[in-house]
Amino acid sequence: MHRLPPQLYSVSIATLPSDFLAREELAHLATEPAREAQTVPMPDGVDSRVTAALGAQGVTVLYEHQAEAWEAASRGEHVMLTTGTASGKTLGFNLPVLNAIARDAKTRALYLYPTKALAQDQARSLSALGVHGVRPAIYDGDTPSGERRQVRTWANAILSNPDMLHIGVLPHHDRWGDMLANLRYVVVDEAHVYRGVFGSHVANVLRRLRRLAAVYGSEPQFLLASATIANPGELARELTGLEATVVSGDTAPRAERTIVLWNPPVIDAELNFRANALGEGARLLAELVERGLRTLCFAKSRKAAELIHRFALERLGREYADRLSPYRAGYTTVQRRDIEQRLAAGELLGVSATDALELGIDIGLLDCVVSVGFPGTVSSLRQQWGRAGRQGHGLAVLVASDDALDQYFMREPEALLGRRVEAAISDHANPRVLDGHVLAAAFEAPLDDADRQTLGDAALERAATLPELRRSAAGFTWTGRDYPAGRISLRSASADSVLVVESDSGSVLGITERERAYSTVHAGAVYLHLGEPYLVRELDLVAATAVVEPFSGDWYTQAKKDTTTAIEEAVATEVRPGVELSFGRVSVTEHVVAYQRRSTRDGAVLETVALDLPAATFETEAVWFVPQPALLDGLDRMPKLLASLHAAEHALIALLPLFAMCDRWDIGGLSTNVHFQTKAPTVFVYDGHPGGVGIAERGFAVFADWVADAVRLLAGCPCESGCPSCVQSPKCGNLNDMLDKGGALELLRRLSR
Ligand SMILES: [Zn+2]
Ligand SMILES: [Zn+2]
Repeated sequence: MHRLPPQLYSVSIATLPSDFLAREELAHLATEPAREAQTVPMPDGVDSRVTAALGAQGVTVLYEHQAEAWEAASRGEHVMLTTGTASGKTLGFNLPVLNAIARDAKTRALYLYPTKALAQDQARSLSALGVHGVRPAIYDGDTPSGERRQVRTWANAILSNPDMLHIGVLPHHDRWGDMLANLRYVVVDEAHVYRGVFGSHVANVLRRLRRLAAVYGSEPQFLLASATIANPGELARELTGLEATVVSGDTAPRAERTIVLWNPPVIDAELNFRANALGEGARLLAELVERGLRTLCFAKSRKAAELIHRFALERLGREYADRLSPYRAGYTTVQRRDIEQRLAAGELLGVSATDALELGIDIGLLDCVVSVGFPGTVSSLRQQWGRAGRQGHGLAVLVASDDALDQYFMREPEALLGRRVEAAISDHANPRVLDGHVLAAAFEAPLDDADRQTLGDAALERAATLPELRRSAAGFTWTGRDYPAGRISLRSASADSVLVVESDSGSVLGITERERAYSTVHAGAVYLHLGEPYLVRELDLVAATAVVEPFSGDWYTQAKKDTTTAIEEAVATEVRPGVELSFGRVSVTEHVVAYQRRSTRDGAVLETVALDLPAATFETEAVWFVPQPALLDGLDRMPKLLASLHAAEHALIALLPLFAMCDRWDIGGLSTNVHFQTKAPTVFVYDGHPGGVGIAERGFAVFADWVADAVRLLAGCPCESGCPSCVQSPKCGNLNDMLDKGGALELLRRLSR
């Protein structure tokens, strides 16, 4: 262990870089300069009661971007606010809301948060502000039924979540008539979370809200806030169906920040195997805490966060027991407040936690942030790092895992630090998502042509095809007996879903589309939920339920499946030098035939178990390319041809999350030496969710950059012939058989010329 000499210890971050620089683990060091705040006086139009309440909290001026949001809202525009962590986005959207309510307490505002903890925090701070006439209240699944009526009639700032809006508010709009009639603002905070399948659903829920508001005579303004993403205007339009003014120039002050990319040491050069990132994270946490620095350590799962906490404590000894704490999503408000206060007082120095979003914790700025493992998007890494910068200087560290993206960033720091953040992609018109909302909307009020305004043209076109709707003079009406919103989970792209149920508690952990269930929750699978492992005891196809139990074994599972892809329609085709590139609809048939149990330690196969499951076919979107013969010169003989295509497919899949915010688990792929339709070697990369949510389409749009990144990934990986940090994939249906790294690199190089 690299213990630091005691004379270097001090409660200042300023001494850190010099000794960190000497470490072999340091892959890259950079500095981001400090930035001065740009403020403007409180605008004249702000009600004096709001100004007074803010003044009492020490807020007397606004950052320029807050004022910009205020002005846009005052002009009646919808606003998308996308500035950094701790830049005062909350005040940016609260100001117009508070002002409107202070002037007229009948005005209603609806705040939507993706988690209950975040809604609670916002309710608390709105109450604490104590603006005249503002009556905040939470309305979610935990609100006791006896209090719901009171919230509906009394509260004018209602804090809820999209699921509750979808199932608890819109279908019962008659009870919400007063709220809908007076609805002036809808705040959508953490909007970047609404992407992929979830985002596609939420976009429909918000359109249904707009439609019902119009029925009751209101036309609310949308105020959205998001982490920095590549496409804020597009996200606002996709989510609401409305054009929003984007406010993105961050004018909040920022401390100077030292950025460190940290690669655990190689312990097996041949396998390109590195020391465990958790151990490294714990070591850094311990060293920073020992110097008296307030440090937040992010891990990708609760178990990982707990382990980091435990390892750090083991290093530091029991006398540090009061100075370190893990932080969990399940904590009560009281426990969260306690951690906040102890951190603020400097009693607590090291906190290990999972995702920033789960925090729902108001901890302000810290000295150091250590992210253990790339959190999946540059945008969320930036959010985590944004907390580093107390007292004029911050230290932000990424500790790499052996995942392909992590290792790519260690070798190509500019690919991480110089990169624009990703785009948040969703597709509300995906029929697999849309149909359920069309039914739900028809239940809420008959659908007619006027609804094109809010629900969109696609909704009306689908309405004509859905057998449960009847066309009448009033429009399309619902003929079923149940209520259709109840059938739709906002987290699944298919009504045909499998529930994942915890055996002891009976609680539903998650929901997965049936098409995906066979490969993720078959009997014997180790299933990951929010990073936590569970062992699947049983997959009951009739009851559509997978029963799981917490798992602490040292193996994981990988499904072996036969996949075929049929092109249904090429929507766009581009002929580029040496390659024909297409985007379109495909149907994918996956047949899970077996799974392997593999050791967590070294990936060794412990057992292969046959499975008897039906094949599943679903339609989705794909990007595919057919390299022309000249591009395959020297690679065109089997098995090299297939192995080169397959490895290229894996490299591309590993890097697609850099362009579209998604997980590699959201993407599938197929390579074939001869496809029955193209009659030639073909590589497909497809959206893993039925119907597709726009991920493949993004791949089509950024193809050249995407391929260039894949070339850099393969060229830079120091392994001999392929490893988990380049061409091997944890989800390969062929169990990483037939992968030719050299051939893939050659092919991708030719493609990128
Ligand atoms: Zn490699
Ligand atoms: Zn594969």
